[in-house]
Amino acid sequence: MRLLVTGAAGFLGSHLTDRLLLEGHTVIGMDNLLTGDLRNLAHLKGNRRFTFAKQDVSQPFDVKGSLDGVFHFASAASPPDYQRWPIETMMVGSYGTQRCLALAHAKGARFFLASTSEVYGDPTEHPQRESYWGNVNSVGPRAMYDEAKRFAEAMTSSYHRTYGTDTRIVRIFNTYGPRMRPEDGRVVSNFIVQALRGDPITIYGDGTQSRSFCYYSDLIDGIYRLFLSDRTDPTNVGNPAEFTVSQLAEIVKEMTGSPAAITYLNLPTDDPKMRRPDITAARKAFGWEPKVSLREGLAQTIPYFRKIVLS
Ligand code: UDP
Repeated sequence: MRLLVTGAAGFLGSHLTDRLLLEGHTVIGMDNLLTGDLRNLAHLKGNRRFTFAKQDVSQPFDVKGSLDGVFHFASAASPPDYQRWPIETMMVGSYGTQRCLALAHAKGARFFLASTSEVYGDPTEHPQRESYWGNVNSVGPRAMYDEAKRFAEAMTSSYHRTYGTDTRIVRIFNTYGPRMRPEDGRVVSNFIVQALRGDPITIYGDGTQSRSFCYYSDLIDGIYRLFLSDRTDPTNVGNPAEFTVSQLAEIVKEMTGSPAAITYLNLPTDDPKMRRPDITAARKAFGWEPKVSLREGLAQTIPYFRKIVLS
């Protein structure tokens, strides 16, 4: 297949690109490099099935030739990043999604949207099933990301209903692994980098809020299977093993052997109190199940950060 990946220089976009190339496909990668990094694609230099274009997909763009699939992964994704780039985040989620859908429709390609568990906001149902409509503050400090992704889901559903565009929507839960930026600001990268540097580990709030952390390889596998499946409804892909932020801090401290102290900072406004995916739909539709435990994933991720932080 000939496939377009937007956000190809990002953490997940680059891992997805690797998987698609491994499966024998041809990939056109696009990224405006706002939060993406070409170093994530450096190993693909000379690969004749991969080309890259620096492109902001919220602006008009075209792809020459046929396309079988369009994966829309472009977006800032960590809270500090999307809060630093609020308009860009809304633009790529709205205009960017519409442009990618129009392209997929024109080429007769399958469209795949990277959506998020953030569409559930600060959930009042736990764990979160795809049927839950969410609890989102439309004007709060996370709105630029949450509402852009909710709009993107609505636009994707509208193309599907109106034009019969072949669409897939994945709701991605917290994911971690190599190629995250040390300054990304998300909890796994922050804690590992702080532990390795011996800086205080920054817990926001009292650390009782929970997240469910998925290793990138499991996530990419779920994404690829969903793409090949015939399921057009939004689908959760994440690891249901749930941890409090305090538990994560303890595990990271233990696994890095760090003497770092723990410091408590203010809980950001609208920070979801808990999050855990119900993955029944993914299990039934395409037999997906995460395989990598948090400790196994961290054992792969810590050496990656150690190399960057201590070099
Ligand atoms: N968090 C924290 N310390 C940090 C970074 C994040 O305690 O240095 C908390 C954050 O408040 C949230 C959880 O960890 O409750 C996950 O945050 P992250 O930014 O990774 O992703 P989110 O799931 O909030 O989008």
